[in-house]
Amino acid sequence: MNIHEYQAKAILKKHGVTIQEGITASTPNEAVDAAKKLQEETGTQWWVLKAQIHAGGRGKGGGVKLAKSLEEVAKIAEGMIGMQLVTHQTGPEGRKVHKILVAQDVYYPGPSGKMEFYMGVLLNRQTGKNTVMYSTEGGVDIEDVADKTPELIFKEEVDPATGILPFQARKIAFNLGLSGQAFKQMTRFVQSLYEAYVSVDASLFEINPVLKATDDKILAVDAKVGLDDNALFRHPELAAMRDLSEEDATEVEAGKHNLNFVKLDGNVGCMVNGAGLAMATMDIIKLSGGDPANFLDVGGGANAQTVEAGLRIILDDPAVKAVLINVFGGIVRCDRVAAGVVEAYKKLGNIQVPVIVRLQGTNAEEGKEVIDNSGLKVRSAISLKEAADIVKEVV
Ligand code: GDP
Ligand code: MN
Repeated sequence: MNIHEYQAKAILKKHGVTIQEGITASTPNEAVDAAKKLQEETGTQWWVLKAQIHAGGRGKGGGVKLAKSLEEVAKIAEGMIGMQLVTHQTGPEGRKVHKILVAQDVYYPGPSGKMEFYMGVLLNRQTGKNTVMYSTEGGVDIEDVADKTPELIFKEEVDPATGILPFQARKIAFNLGLSGQAFKQMTRFVQSLYEAYVSVDASLFEINPVLKATDDKILAVDAKVGLDDNALFRHPELAAMRDLSEEDATEVEAGKHNLNFVKLDGNVGCMVNGAGLAMATMDIIKLSGGDPANFLDVGGGANAQTVEAGLRIILDDPAVKAVLINVFGGIVRCDRVAAGVVEAYKKLGNIQVPVIVRLQGTNAEEGKEVIDNSGLKVRSAISLKEAADIVKEVV
């Protein structure tokens, strides 16, 4: 699960990380009030208005703007709230901006001594350790840096058993070329960031840019967090931060039925039990010249209800030209799945696209019989190859 910048910054602040302070607003009036309040609290003269969407690249897409007066705050807020923001991470359709963050301008008074770093903590699944990734070349072009000059990105492996050690924090501050007050602040920054990452069970906690301000303060200007869904049950306060308007509506609907669904670009809908089998099914579809429209794992207990919910979700996608249901009867019996498919098919009614059902495992033959005798326009197959060939025929 992802959360917004303002939510991630609140987590950082709780762990003692200095942040670019800000207040959220959903209307231009709220934005002006927020700007006034920030001025009182921080003394800031200028403000930065930042669109709150779950995607990066906002700066380049027009989602981060500097305001030098309250009139400008109102004007920029007017244009930003409700806009469809397109960045290189949103896809061409963009994301609707519901909320903005009115933040203090921390770059004032200008560039002298100002530096933008990159810092992220993430899980390295290969080593089973956490990695602090960091670079002197932070800011809006970090993808270019990773692409063209990867040697400018440093990595520090942290043993989860010990946490980040003081010498590692010093090494990082040193590699960033810091000295004096900024050096000291950076060691604290890294340690607090690491603590924040661990405490929320994040799989990624990324700050880009980390700013060394003109007064040598080190602070988080941006924050991006990926939370581990499997650990969310331990953090009801984080689970409550979920913003469904940022998520794919179909994926949210699938989640309600305990279906694992991921939308893809092709035209063959698939419904499979088991993630491994789902991957194999997508491979077979590709091999036979088709293109999967989705990944859908109905899990272990494929019954009439899950099959119906799955079929409904798949058929909601206008791109779908055929549906392949591929179920392995291990614990669940194929004839029961077949009965579920027939029931769901009848219930949904008026299905225009061909549905191919491939059942293998316990009572596969009986399952095929149920399908073939149903009188519906459902085609059955027992081998996966057979199923793929039928798909190829029909799309
Ligand atoms: P992103 O583009 O989605 O990563 O959004 P960021 O929060 O990282 O902001 C993008 C860029 O806006 C930063 O890299 C800065 O260059 C700029 N920016 C952010 N905060 C301020 C600020 O307080 N003052 C000024 N002048 N620029 C800022
Ligand atoms: Mn950023």
